[in-house]
Amino acid sequence: MTLPFTIEAQSGTGRLGRISTAHGDVETPAFMPVGTAGTVKAVSQDILEELGAQIILGNTYHLYLRPGHELVRKMGGLHKFMSWNRALLTDSGGFQVFSLSELRKVTEEGVSFRSHLDGTSHLFTPERSMEIQIALGADIVMAFDECTEHPAERERARQSMEMTLRWAKRSKEYFEAHKHECPWTESGLRVIGTSGHRESQNPPSAQPRAAAVHDPGFSELPATPALFGIVQGGMYGDLRRESAERTVELDFPGYAIGGLSVGESREKTMEMIARALDVLPRDKPRYVMGVGYPEEIVQYAAMGVDMMDCVLPTRAARHGLLFTSAGRMNIKNARYAQDQQPPDPKCGCRVCSRYTRAYLRHLFVSAEPLAAVLNTVHNLAFYLDTMRAVRHAIKLGDLSGMRSGSVSLA
Ligand SMILES: [Zn+2]
Repeated sequence: MTLPFTIEAQSGTGRLGRISTAHGDVETPAFMPVGTAGTVKAVSQDILEELGAQIILGNTYHLYLRPGHELVRKMGGLHKFMSWNRALLTDSGGFQVFSLSELRKVTEEGVSFRSHLDGTSHLFTPERSMEIQIALGADIVMAFDECTEHPAERERARQSMEMTLRWAKRSKEYFEAHKHECPWTESGLRVIGTSGHRESQNPPSAQPRAAAVHDPGFSELPATPALFGIVQGGMYGDLRRESAERTVELDFPGYAIGGLSVGESREKTMEMIARALDVLPRDKPRYVMGVGYPEEIVQYAAMGVDMMDCVLPTRAARHGLLFTSAGRMNIKNARYAQDQQPPDPKCGCRVCSRYTRAYLRHLFVSAEPLAAVLNTVHNLAFYLDTMRAVRHAIKLGDLSGMRSGSVSLA
């Protein structure tokens, strides 16, 4: 199996599922914290485990520039390098080239760009992106795509979509020929997964328990990473549909919907997701990239999206913005200076169990590093608990209540 995915319950269009990776199961709908440069900023891996994160993201662009994918390969791959024994997903690098690099030039071959770190010149092609991602060794890797800018004229969005389709084909060809070169496949060992519940007693050890590839007891686990295709098409519903249809023809074990949250309205985001979901196979994982606010991720999960990632909970935390069951809270506000309550009285995370708003405000206005740590831990707990509540609601067949009301914690 490339990537076993089972659907265990449904509520309306929302699905409760399970993706089985070589590094543990991922319960879906899943929220994936973003670990840009091999770290979810300000949070250590043992706390991510405690929070119940079952899969996190690494960014190909950042890891390629620093420390370099060959170094990561030498260190045994990204799982081993960062001591994260659960599932990992890497993006293709395309979006960061699009948003961060200077002097970007797109041709049929790929994208040439200058590093935002030191100005050096680089070229990403579909083949190069696959080579880098295979060296990093995530469980799920993404096809190299072009994130269409917004706004874009219809003809420009079509040309960009066609390019992404040609790049998807090239990505797949290179990936299929080289996927066995990933660090954990090459070692001839596979990891026995741990499901990673918040209360679980998983050992934090970097050393995976390993089983021989040919052990029949583990024949259902993937032996190599899995490659997902990406739907583009700008903000045009018919192009989104066509992009989805033609990406599905290329036959991937999972599909992402990219190029969203680039400045369009929320209604437009939902419409584009809906057009793609109409077409994407129901028996494969469906991933919306780079979204969103807590109420949005609940909405998309209800539409039948299985995976989402976003920098919002971590980035906002570093700016003093907390997501709570009562809405957003700007912790630097003077009104919290003597507030003895926990940040979110309904949250059971280690921050809310221990610290007051007054203390978090003090840390933030004093620019103490612990402010970023505690704010991020709470925000991630809130996002992961929100998804846990969504999964619970789907299991009970009662997702409609969560969709209309505010986000509530189970
Ligand atoms: Zn909390």
